[in-house]
Amino acid sequence: MLGTETAFEVLAKARALEAQGKSIIHLEIGEPDFDTPGNVKAAGIDAIQRNFTHYGPSAGLPDVRKAIAEYSGKVRGMEFSPEEVVVVPGGKPVMFYAIMAIMNPGDEIIYPNPGFPIYESMINFMGGKAVPIHIREEREFSLDVGELRKLVTDKTRMIIINSPANPTGGILERADLEGIAEIAIKHDLWVLSDEIYQQIIYGKQHLSIATLPGMKERTIILDGFSKAYAMTGWRLGYGVMNKSIAPHITRLMTNSNSCTATFTQMAGAAALRGPQDSVRKMTEEFRRRRDLIVGGLNKIPGFSCKMPHGAFYVFPNIKKSGKTSQQMSDYLLNEGGVACLPGTSFGALGEGYLRFSYANSEENIREALKRIDAAVRKLK
Ligand code: PLP
Repeated sequence: MLGTETAFEVLAKARALEAQGKSIIHLEIGEPDFDTPGNVKAAGIDAIQRNFTHYGPSAGLPDVRKAIAEYSGKVRGMEFSPEEVVVVPGGKPVMFYAIMAIMNPGDEIIYPNPGFPIYESMINFMGGKAVPIHIREEREFSLDVGELRKLVTDKTRMIIINSPANPTGGILERADLEGIAEIAIKHDLWVLSDEIYQQIIYGKQHLSIATLPGMKERTIILDGFSKAYAMTGWRLGYGVMNKSIAPHITRLMTNSNSCTATFTQMAGAAALRGPQDSVRKMTEEFRRRRDLIVGGLNKIPGFSCKMPHGAFYVFPNIKKSGKTSQQMSDYLLNEGGVACLPGTSFGALGEGYLRFSYANSEENIREALKRIDAAVRKLK
């Protein structure tokens, strides 16, 4: 069965409460509260004026694929050719197409749990077996390579990784990536590396598994514009992959979307080729908010919150509160006026946690912390 992304459901519930006159602070949805940078908007408008409003090639406009190949190589310290890039409408379609292209019914794919819910949903929907690898708080929300090794069978086709991660903010360090790479090479597996948060990282350098020896040819990098350039509604993302698989993903595009909107692609190329200061500023701002929310959550009885290294989420442990994730998130929404997500929205192994997005103003985060604190103290 096809799963869902609960963030949209909680958002709808929160909006219904607001319609009744209740004040709700939105810490549920995973999108930057910043606007798309001006130069990017201008490039989109200009492209419409210049009639980039027709069908384009299914894999993306040649010059946009070139811009993505250059950028993707530069930020990871490697080289890609435009033929290794397929432009799609958002980061999500890369998951959809990569799983569809590689997995046959009955095959197994190992995916992070708690993790982005669409991985598990897509694997199940397409008749595969979704095998969870536990993302562990005690490992700073990384995975245990020994555990991963034990999950591989002769039916395993792919490992999905996500660094920096949603919902935990955890990152995979070099040693973890080397361990994963060794397993992928030994068992001839594909790796879908979801790097959509690669620019939103605090005090560390993003490392892509594709840079490790023997990994470029078996890695499909998922990246896009939604987060780093605050372009969620533009629907623009891409996969960077081996030339052998790119035509298959392109064919799936021909059969589903035909192509990604061409004026949107032009705006994307301007984002990558233009100044990067808006990304830097946004990340600095997120870092301040991260420190604020982690500090505040750790003062709430029954909550403990690790310091995330990337993305714009915190994933506090609420096991000591005596409530389940669902009970606590419902309670905070209805009684506290704060919308967040239960950890179980990200898989069964998210029980005992909540996810807050700190893509909201400092003022709102301070108010949310006050509200959560007051609501939780009432439970005692
Ligand atoms: N990958 C992860 C880990 C995400 O958190 C998200 C969005 O929340 C996506 C991919 C999808 O991004 P897009 O909106 O570009 O489809």
